[in-house]
Amino acid sequence: MQAPAITQLHERSTPEEVRRYVASELEAFFATQINPEATERDEACEAVPRGAFEHAAQVGLLNYLMPKDVGGMGGSRRTFGLLLEHIGYFCNDMAFPSMLAMYADVPNVIYRSRRPSLLEAYVHPMALGKKLGTFAYTDYGDAFDFQTRVVRKEDRYVLNGTKCLQTGGALADVFVTYARDEADDMKVLLVDRSDPGVSTRPVKTLGLRSAGLTQLKLEDVTLAEERLLSGPDGLAEAQTFLNSRRMFVVCPFVGAMKRIIELCVVHLDTVIREGRPLTQAQTVQAHVGNMAARQLTSEAILHDALDRIGRGDINQLFDPIISAAKLIITENALELGERAIRLTGWRGYSKELPFERFYRAFMAALTGQTAQDVLEIQLGVVTMAHVGFNQQRGLR
Ligand SMILES: Cc1cc2nc3c(=O)[nH]c(=O)nc-3n(C[C@H](O)[C@H](O)[C@H](O)COP(=O)(O)OP(=O)(O)OC[C@H]3O[C@@H](n4cnc5c(N)ncnc54)[C@H](O)[C@@H]3O)c2cc1C
Repeated sequence: MQAPAITQLHERSTPEEVRRYVASELEAFFATQINPEATERDEACEAVPRGAFEHAAQVGLLNYLMPKDVGGMGGSRRTFGLLLEHIGYFCNDMAFPSMLAMYADVPNVIYRSRRPSLLEAYVHPMALGKKLGTFAYTDYGDAFDFQTRVVRKEDRYVLNGTKCLQTGGALADVFVTYARDEADDMKVLLVDRSDPGVSTRPVKTLGLRSAGLTQLKLEDVTLAEERLLSGPDGLAEAQTFLNSRRMFVVCPFVGAMKRIIELCVVHLDTVIREGRPLTQAQTVQAHVGNMAARQLTSEAILHDALDRIGRGDINQLFDPIISAAKLIITENALELGERAIRLTGWRGYSKELPFERFYRAFMAALTGQTAQDVLEIQLGVVTMAHVGFNQQRGLR
């Protein structure tokens, strides 16, 4: 069998090489299978079809980040980030890269348990796109106050609680779940949708409506010991996962921002006001210039952060560069999206044009993958520590 074209990419592929790969291998797939129904799916709050992820598995996208010994591509996180960026340009439904990034990353959490039974039952099928997994972390309290509890009963674990929101939960077969035990330590457990006591309900949101967002309910879910994924420090595992995933949330934004500018300019050229196209009005040119500055700086920030990830030059638990990139790219995307709507009048505000849908998708990152305000606090604390500020004693 011929190796998929994605194997030509490597850890130092340039952004342009990755763009060419996405254009030649995936553009037609998005144009025929994903984009035509994007608006309707959004209106119906219907998840991107499962077949899309089977296709992603066939071309080597879904298993790109997975190790080779379990059927993965062993690809680099840096190059995967670039893939997401360019998918964001060609794919009109931002839910697809959001779900893809989740489904591609969760198998690695299970893989790290090294349990042969879990590799066979879950990780191998995930590499083939036959099973999908998501991350059920967010709870009705802080990490130290999670309401979801796990209790040991003889050789079993019994789980009870509700997990607030999961990307791609509607299609997920597996939920990597976090709960507090009797000693208030955090445990990471693998929950199968077919386990008795497991149920999900759809959660309707402002944007990313086709991302299959769910709430997970666990009622006396009884799990064998092998389903425990973590060592004693489940919180550190969760922080490591969140830290390294944070970047993937905004990668597609950068591609989408570029697309929005292009669509916006093409549209503005057809709108005649006072006898000339809007593209000739200086205020409009200034708006477009501002949008371009936001896209170009976001691209530069993204590539720098991805290169650092590629070099392993990051803090695994909380990396200031990754967090700053997520923060600033989100703010830039929102400002750019708002300007696109401003410039395109009633059409931009309506479903005649895709800008309001992109804008709503960008808003997900205001809270998703750590709320922007909380990132600012964390970055502020790290920055003050660097300049010698001690919160108790003030400036030294
Ligand atoms: C589209 C989308 C997809 C998601 N997918 C997943 C998923 O797959 N899995 C998952 O587990 N979760 C998921 N989430 C949930 C997401 O991780 C949480 O929304 C996020 O961590 C913020 O938690 P919260 O919503 O409880 O907000 P809160 O923690 O309540 O924060 C809300 C606001 O409260 C204030 N605040 C909070 N803490 C502090 C503080 N310490 N000091 C000062 N002010 C504070 C800030 O203003 C903050 O913006 C998703 C969310 C979205 C929007």
